[in-house]
Parts: sequence; structure tokens; C-alpha cells
Amino acid sequence: MSLDTKPNIDWDSLGFNVTETKSMFRSTCAIGEKWSGGDLIPYSDISLSPFAGVLNYGQGVFEGVKAFRSSKGNVVLFRADMNGKRMAFSTRRICMPEMDPDFFVDAVIKTVKDNIDYVPPYGRGSLYIRPVVWGTAPILGVSPTSEYTFMVIVSPVGPYFKEGIKPLNLKVNTDYHRAAPKGIGNAKAIGNYSASLFPLMEAKAEGFDENIYLDAKDEKFVEELGSANVFIYKDGVLKTPALNGSILGGITRQSVCQVASDILGITVKETEITVDDLLSAEEVFCTGTAVVVTPVGRITYQGKTTEINQNQMGPIAKKIREMLVGIQREEIEDPFGWVLPVN
Ligand SMILES: *Cc1c(COP(=O)(O)O)cnc(C)c1O
Repeated sequence: MSLDTKPNIDWDSLGFNVTETKSMFRSTCAIGEKWSGGDLIPYSDISLSPFAGVLNYGQGVFEGVKAFRSSKGNVVLFRADMNGKRMAFSTRRICMPEMDPDFFVDAVIKTVKDNIDYVPPYGRGSLYIRPVVWGTAPILGVSPTSEYTFMVIVSPVGPYFKEGIKPLNLKVNTDYHRAAPKGIGNAKAIGNYSASLFPLMEAKAEGFDENIYLDAKDEKFVEELGSANVFIYKDGVLKTPALNGSILGGITRQSVCQVASDILGITVKETEITVDDLLSAEEVFCTGTAVVVTPVGRITYQGKTTEINQNQMGPIAKKIREMLVGIQREEIEDPFGWVLPVN
């Protein structure tokens, strides 16, 4: 393939899975030092010691960011500075050299620019950006390892739901917890996701799309899904569980709160939400970079299924989703400075 050949991708066949791209960013940092430098290298497999900290003790964290082609013809990032801040928090929590958010954003921009031909056309998906930090030096005893690798890998993806947005069918899981108080649920640490696989497979085998997890202490309050935050709407008030230490502070969650209160004039409360609140809501929806804003149509708790808003996307979820997607695609004015053109 010559250097100026554009990738031959059937944009309409993309789902939410891996498509290889031109390059990836890599930087390393020894413990006690600062993140700096790094290079774009051709996309390929990597080699790693089988004793690497990430492989043996789960010393790994990640992020999820999207780049879009906008209505103005730009390639834009959505709030990548917030992902950088969260990466700083996650690296610190998992005993890695704390990453500076500006270093993070700079690496993301470099990687997107170098892979710009892999950003799907306007309205046909996005370039999913997956920044990771792994403990890559070999280690035997349980301890933070001595060297860390930061990589930014990317893949073009189609819409998360190919057949259009279909309300989710969820189970309130009473057998497993996602994260414990004072644990690592508020960091995007890889261990959280290995813990959620077994309950996820069980829920899928029972016909559900995902789990809703309760707080591990009282088993009374709604926390979130395995990889998305949750909102309920009733009597003119939009509520989402307050960040209590075991919930992942989603950037979409925070953006939805701001769009709802500042643009749509809806009362927003970050508070405790009981299962009764959830089941009696007029609307329930979940949020995340991958799912954006997706309605929840059915919820099963202790074997009993409750239909929410007649298993349809409600007007509030619809309005918020349209606003958020409109801002992301530069279709409507961005009053918050959330969108960053990188081309
Ligand atoms: C990534 C993630 C979210 C959503 O966060 P965004 O920043 O909105 O993408 C929510 N919950 C969990 C557990 C997550 O890992």
C-alpha cells in the first residue's frame, strides 16, 4: 500500500468492533518519573514480558473517547480534557505515574491526526479512541511494577446499535456487585471489567442486555450499569446516582446533567435512587461514550418485570440525546466549549 492510499473501508458495515488502522501512539515512563515524549508507530501486535504487572496483577487503566466528522467538515473531539483528568485520577489510584491531562490530550490529538482517513464520514459512525496505561515491567511480588506504557489505539466504529436505538432490557442484579465502597469502582481500572464479565454473561443468557448494579453496602441504592451511568426522570425532575466512590464518573453523565439543566431548564438532582424510584420512573436511560443516551424499556427485579414508558424512548431522553449529538456533530451551537476541532 502506498503512503497516500486511502483505507478501503465499507463504512456501513462497521459495528462496535476492532478495525486496524495506520498507527498507534506509544510512550513509556519509569515509576517516579514524569510522562513525556512518545512516538506514533505502525499499528501492530506488541511484545510484553509474561511477568508484566498488567498481566499478573491487573495494573491497567483505560479511557474511551470518540472523534467525529462534524457538519462543518471538521474532525472533532468531545471533552477529551475530561478524559485526561479522569486518566490522571485512574493512574494515581492504580499506583502508576500520574498522567498530566495535557500530555494525554496531546497524544490523543496526534493519534487522531495520523489516522484521520479512518474517521468515518459525517453521520456514519466515529473513530473510537482507546488510551491505555499498563504496568509493563516484569514483577513477581505483589507491588507496583517499575515501568509503564501508555498507548493510544483507535478503531473506526459504526453506531453502537445497528438497527437504530432500541430500548434496553435490564436486570437489577441481586447476585453480584460491580464495585465496593472504597474500592476502585470510580477509576477506569481494567479489574472492574473482568469482575463484570460473569454477571454480564449470566444476564445475557437470561435474555437481558445488561445489569443494573446496586450499592454493595446496603444493596438498596441504584449505582450504574457495567459500563454506563443511569438516569431516571419523574415529575419534572431528572435524577442520577450521586458519585459515592464506587460509581464511575461518566463524562456523558456530567454532560447530560449540564445540557438538561442549562439548556433545557430541567431540574437535575444527583442523589440516592432506590429500586422503587427506578421502577416507578416515567423514563429511565443510560449514558456513556459508546451508548451516548440510550433508553431503558424493561427492568426485571427479583423475577418481576416492569415496563418503562411502554418500552419506548421517552421525550426527555430523546431531547437530551438530540442536543448532545447535535453539539458533538457541530449541528447546533456549543455553548460549553466541549468540542475541539483537530484537523
Ligand atoms: C466508561 C464508563 C462509563 C461512562 O463514562 P463516559 O465518560 O460517559 O464514557 C460509565 N460507567 C462505567 C463503569 C464506565 O466504565
